[in-house]
Amino acid sequence: MSTSLLYHTQNLGGFLFETFKFLGGATIAEVRRSPAKFCCPNCKSHSVTPTLIGTRDIQGLPIGRCCFYLRVKMHRIRCHSCGAFLMEKLL
Ligand SMILES: [Zn+2]
Repeated sequence: MSTSLLYHTQNLGGFLFETFKFLGGATIAEVRRSPAKFCCPNCKSHSVTPTLIGTRDIQGLPIGRCCFYLRVKMHRIRCHSCGAFLMEKLL
């Protein structure tokens, strides 16, 4: 699976595919946001510094009979325009 396949099967844009994990009958795709897609949740400025703080598992649409999850790397965003320091928004 690739970034393109995630986009077309899960409607997931702005993220890059990294790897697959297979755990207990579930498929987990690890993804991260494209570096150019980071923006401030407050003012939408792209002058930001993201800091990785962990991961979040989100259930995706099933692939065949397997449960499918997206493991997304979550960041805290420091905005250089408005000074906000907030969690990134996924949608
Ligand atoms: Zn801002």
